[in-house]
This record gives sequence, C-alpha cells and structure tokens, in this order.
Amino acid sequence: MSEQKIGAYICQGCGLGERLDTAELAKVAQKEGKAAVVREHEFLCNSAGVQLIQADIDNEGVTHVMVAACSRRAKTQAFNLDKAAVARANLREGVIWTQPDTDEARELTQEMAADYVRMGCAEAKNMTLPGGNPNTAHNKRILVVGGGVSGMTAALESAKAGYHVVLVEKSGQLGGWAAKLHKRVPFAEPFRDPQDNGVAALAAAVEGHANITVYLNAITSKTDGSPGKFSVEISQESGSTVTEEMGSIIQATGFTLYDANKLPELGYGKTPNVVDQAGLEKLAQEAAAKGEPIRRPSDGGDVKSVVFVQCAGQRDDTGKHLPYCSGFCCNTSIKQAMYFKDANPDIDAAVIYTDLRVPGNGEDFYRNAQDKGVIFTKGKVSAVEGSGNGCKVTFHDLILNDQNTVAEADLVVLATGQVPNSGVDIDTLVATDAEEEKSEEAEAAAPEEIKVVSVLNLTYR
Ligand code: SF4
Ligand code: SF4
Repeated sequence: MSEQKIGAYICQGCGLGERLDTAELAKVAQKEGKAAVVREHEFLCNSAGVQLIQADIDNEGVTHVMVAACSRRAKTQAFNLDKAAVARANLREGVIWTQPDTDEARELTQEMAADYVRMGCAEAKNMTLPGGNPNTAHNKRILVVGGGVSGMTAALESAKAGYHVVLVEKSGQLGGWAAKLHKRVPFAEPFRDPQDNGVAALAAAVEGHANITVYLNAITSKTDGSPGKFSVEISQESGSTVTEEMGSIIQATGFTLYDANKLPELGYGKTPNVVDQAGLEKLAQEAAAKGEPIRRPSDGGDVKSVVFVQCAGQRDDTGKHLPYCSGFCCNTSIKQAMYFKDANPDIDAAVIYTDLRVPGNGEDFYRNAQDKGVIFTKGKVSAVEGSGNGCKVTFHDLILNDQNTVAEADLVVLATGQVPNSGVDIDTLVATDAEEEKSEEAEAAAPEEIKVVSVLNLTYR
C-alpha cells in the first residue's frame, strides 16, 4: 500500500452536532491525530456522507479512515469502505448517551469526545488493511445432492442466479418422493384443493438448463477439501468416477419413510387394507392411470369408508418410535381424504387425530376439507384389525372420553413419519463402554434403532 494518509470524518447527526463542538474535534483530529484530511458532515452514514469519504479515498489518496460518529456495531454496511482501513470513534453511545445533557456536563462531555477522537486516530494509524489469504481460492460452482423437489428447486434457483450447478441423484430419474404423489398439498392461492405435483415441469426445467449438469444413478462417494474448495468424487452406476471441483454443497437428500411394519398393533402387514400414506398415493396413481376410483386392496371392492390414523409411530413418548412430529402428515391426510370426497362425496372419510397441525395456509385447506364433509375426530387409535372385508379401528375418543370407541372402515391409512437421510449419526458410531456392556434385557427394551447412512462421505468434519 502507498504511504499512509489518515482521513478523519466527524458526524454531526444523531444529536452530536448539538451536544459537541465538532469544529474543535476536527482540530484535535488534525493537530494531534495527524489526520491529513478532516471533514465534518451533518449525516455521515447517508449516501452523500459515504460518497464524501469514498471520494477522498479514490481521489485524495486517503488510506486510513477514522469515523467519529456512532458505535462500531452500527452502520457497518455504510462504513464498509473499499480500499481503506476504517477505525471508529464512538461519540454517540460512548459519549453523549452516557453524559447528561446539561450545561455543567458540557465541558466534560467535550473532553471525552476529544479523547475518543484521539483514540480513533491512534487506532487508524496502527491499522493495516488485510491483504487476504493468497493460498485460498473460491470456487463458485454449487453441488446439489439429491434430485427431489428440494434439490431441483435449489439447483434451478442457483442456476438462475448465474451459478454453475452439478446435481447428483442416486436413482435413475429426477423427482424423488414428490414424483410418487398423485397430487400435492396446495402451494398457491386459494389453498383449498390438491394440486398437480408439478414434478415433470420442474425436472424438464432442470434438465434443460444450460448451467446445470445432472448425474443420475450416481452418488457422492468422497468429499474432500473444505468449504469454498471441495473436491467431490461422483461414482456412477456404470462404475465410472468423475471428480468435480465445487465451492459449496447443498444437501437435499430427503427422507426415508418410517417403517410401518414396526406398528403391528395398527394392522400394517396383517391386512392389505391398512396402508401408509405412500401406499395410498400409489393406489391413487394406479387408479388414476386406469381412470377408476381407488379400490379396496384386498378384493378390489368399492371403498365406502376410509379412516386416517394420525401420528402413527410419531410424537411417541414410550421411546419405541419417533419422538417428533414430521410436520407434513396432517396436511397429507387432508389431501388424501379429499381424493375420496372429490371422487364421490358419499364416501365416509374420517381423520382421527390428537392435534391437527396445519399451520399457515393449511388452515384454508383444512376448512375446505370440512366443507367437503371430511370428519375430524379428536382421538387416539389403539388398535386396527382386519374385520370382514374391511377393518375395525379402536380408539380413545378424547372428547367423549370413551376408551373403546370403534369405527369400521374399508380402508385405513396410517400417517407414519419421516426419518431424514442426513448423514452419519455420530452417536451411534461413538459407542461408550457403558453402552457396549448393555445387558440383553436392556437391549431388548431399547428403542428401535434408526440407521442413517452417510450421504456426502466427507473426509473431514
Ligand atoms: S447513525 Fe451514526 S453515522 Fe449516522 S448520523 Fe447517526 S451518528 Fe452519524
Ligand atoms: S399427523 Fe400431524 S401432528 Fe401427527 S406427526 Fe404428522 S403432522 Fe405432526
């Protein structure tokens, strides 16, 4: 950098001009602070004030700037100046806000301000402008792992913003879970009815974008480097491997459905007329392809009644299942109940829930389901059994406090949850000695283990 030249800028805004003699402070900066350029300004952080400073940097050769105004924690964007080191003297919070606004205090306040200006100039004098680390480089390419709706949306928005994107999808096509949905929960006005899943259009936009490279049937087998400079090994099904240099990574690897086989008390696996929400989507897609209504899986009979069991294996306080709320399944059950009501309003569709969680625009969707005749019953299901051609659902009616209320249905849909595909679960890798010594009894009583796979295969953490 060229020879040091200090510029001192004294603000008169925020009451500083009324409480302080800024002309005197300017003299202090010039004589004692050795500032070569000294200016006062009525409102230093506005565009005119900032331009004044920047012009001195560009045209007068100012290399070090001392701003005597407010706290260094305020107006950081305004005083983030190009090509200069910036020191701040806090006359506002540090001086006039701490001293009473009285005639008696005026002299002391002015002396304090002068000291702050001296300190600011001394700080500026000893500052050096960071030169940056010559050993680092920034790669602006973005890797998106996962070709579902989230991954595709991230890829498309990044590409539209001008970045080159590499998208890696482990299966042979884009779309993920969303492609398996007959319809999706509404995401646009008026938020009342299920909408097309939109996957085909999104996938076409991704595949057709010049700034997006898509690898299908591929995984990230190794991720080396560090943020800003990743080296990612992508292994393809064909056995070939490519290495891509990337600056950042978006992990959009989605989820795995909680295994409904862990809920035998709710009839899954015992009768084909109990399905999870993904199973119902499959039935709906198959029925739509044939132009038929959804039929009872056991015998292809008409579905005249359907019951949705909320929080199946979720929000569980026994330690056996998922302790959390997956957040999506209330809206999904409402949507699926509408599949039946829209096809035939005479079908009985009931949702048995403990709490219905449909935040935001989901409230409109929920109200519309009520208008269509979907019944919402506050209760907790304890058992589902096969019964004749359908099912018997036993639940605790939480309004009437009847423990053994029974509902008959041709089809039962379980709202099971999601387990994120989010990487290695460190806790399961670092087993403690105590855990290793668990007795057989304790192991038998242990909660179901959720195995999580590593997705990025990072070589560092
Ligand atoms: S916010 Fe800071 S820089 Fe802006 S007028 Fe007030 S004291 Fe001056
Ligand atoms: S069914 Fe509703 S309340 Fe229960 S876990 Fe799903 S979103 Fe949460």
